[in-house]
Amino acid sequence: MPGEEVDILDSCACSGANLPRFVQPVLLALLAQEPVHGYALVRKLADTGLFGPQMPDMTGCYRMLRDMEKNGVLESVSGRGEGPSRRIYAVTERGMRCLNRWTETLARSRGHLESVLDFLQAVQRTGRPSWEACPLKERAFMEEVRARALAGELPRREDMLRLLSYAPRSAEAAFLGRLARSVAREVAGDTARLWAAVGVDCAPCPMNCAFCAFGRAWGVVKEAHEWATGDILGAACRYAFEGAAWVVLRTTEQYGLERLSALTAKARELLPERCVLVANTGQKGARDIEALKKAGVEVMYHALRLGEGRDTPFDPGERRAALNTIRNAGMTLACLAEPLGVEHTDGEIADSLLAALSAGAEICGVMARINVPGTPFEGREEVSEERLAQVAAVARLCGGTATPHICVHPPVPLAVEWGANVLVVETGAVPRDAGEVPGEWKGFSVEDARKMFVQAGYAFSRSARDMAGRGREHPAGA
Ligand code: SF4
Repeated sequence: MPGEEVDILDSCACSGANLPRFVQPVLLALLAQEPVHGYALVRKLADTGLFGPQMPDMTGCYRMLRDMEKNGVLESVSGRGEGPSRRIYAVTERGMRCLNRWTETLARSRGHLESVLDFLQAVQRTGRPSWEACPLKERAFMEEVRARALAGELPRREDMLRLLSYAPRSAEAAFLGRLARSVAREVAGDTARLWAAVGVDCAPCPMNCAFCAFGRAWGVVKEAHEWATGDILGAACRYAFEGAAWVVLRTTEQYGLERLSALTAKARELLPERCVLVANTGQKGARDIEALKKAGVEVMYHALRLGEGRDTPFDPGERRAALNTIRNAGMTLACLAEPLGVEHTDGEIADSLLAALSAGAEICGVMARINVPGTPFEGREEVSEERLAQVAAVARLCGGTATPHICVHPPVPLAVEWGANVLVVETGAVPRDAGEVPGEWKGFSVEDARKMFVQAGYAFSRSARDMAGRGREHPAGA
C-alpha cells in the first residue's frame, strides 16, 4: 500500500532520522566556545540548523547531556534554580579530545559521503529500464524497421508512430536506442562529426516565429546587428582548425543573397578542403541556390518546422517544396525535426522526420526548442533529454544508409549513445538565445563534443568528405 510505504519511510534512515547523531560533536563544539546553561545550550543547538526549522527535543537533549557527563566528556555545576536547564555545562579535557576525533572522522567521511552521493545521483540520472526487458514482439518489430531502412525503403508513418509512442524511459525505448546505435555503426562506421555554426546577423524579424528570439514582436532583439566579416571568418576558421567537419554560415531571412555569396566565397578560400560549407538562410529558389553553390556552398539547411503554419507564418506546403528544390538543385540537404517541444504529438514529429527523409536529407535528426524568455514560449516546460534521445533514435533507425548523419541539438549524451553522430557548436547570433553569443553557446565547445563522442565509442572525424551519404532517391521535380 502506497500510504503504508510513506509511513515506513518516515522513520527510515533515508528520512534523515539519523542526522541528530551529530548532536554530540555539535554540543561539544558549542561548549568549547564557552560554558553555558542547559537551556541556552539547546537554543544554540537549534540555531545550528541541524534540526531544520524544528526545535530539538529538550528531554532528549538533557538525557544526552547526562550521558555525555557520565562518559566524562562534559562536566556541570549547578546554576541558579533547579533541573538540567539551569545547570552550567562545560567541556572537559577528554571532551576536547573527543571533539578533535569527531572532526577528523567527519573530515575523512566527507569524501566517502560525496562519492556515495555522486553514485546515487548518477544512478538516478541514468537508472532507466534495461533494453533486456523489452518484449520480444517489439524487438522483432524494431528489427524489421531497421532491415527495411537498411534496404533503402522509406519508413512507414505507422511504424514511426509506434516507435515514437514508447515511453521515453521504457525498456522499449532502451531497445530502440540500442538498435539505433547499431545502425550508426553500420551506416556511419561508428564515426561522428561536428557541425559548427556561426550566426552572421541578428535582427528583429517581421516573421515573428513564436519560438525564435529574433521575432520582432517579442522585443528580445531590439536592434539589427551584424558581426564584422573578419570576426565571422575568424570564428569559421577557428572551428575548422579545432575539427569541425561542417562550417555553417547562418543568417536571417533579410540577409542579402549577394552578401552571403561573397562571404561564402571568402570562407571557402580560407577553409581546408575537408570542411564542407553550409548555408542556413532564408527560403531560396533554384536560381539563388545555384548562386550559393557557385560561391562554395555544398549543403543547405532547411526544415519543415514542428508547428509550421501555426507557430510560424510560413506555408507548410511551400516549406516542404523548398526541401525538394534544394535536392533538385543538386545540393545536399540537412533537415532536422525542430524545434521540439513537449506539446508536439507523435504524428507531428513523424511527419517532420518523414518530410526530411523523403526529400533525401543526408543529415537529419532533432533539435529541441529552447524556450527563450520574452518569446511566447517563455516558462514552458522543455522537452526531456530522454524524449530528445528517443526522437534521434527514431531518425537513426529509419534513416538507413541514405542518411548517415543524425544530429541532436542541444548535445545530450543519451542521444549520442542512441545513434546521434553529429553534435553542434555555435557562436554569434543565436535565435535560441537572447541574441548574440560571443563565445560558445551554453559553453559547449568542440573539445566537449569530441569527449562526448569518444565516451560513446565513436571515432571523431574532422572531415565531411570521408563519409558522404548518397541521399535518398526522390522523384525529380517533386
Ligand atoms: S525563425 Fe527565421 S523567419 Fe522565423 S522569426 Fe526567426 S529569423 Fe525570422
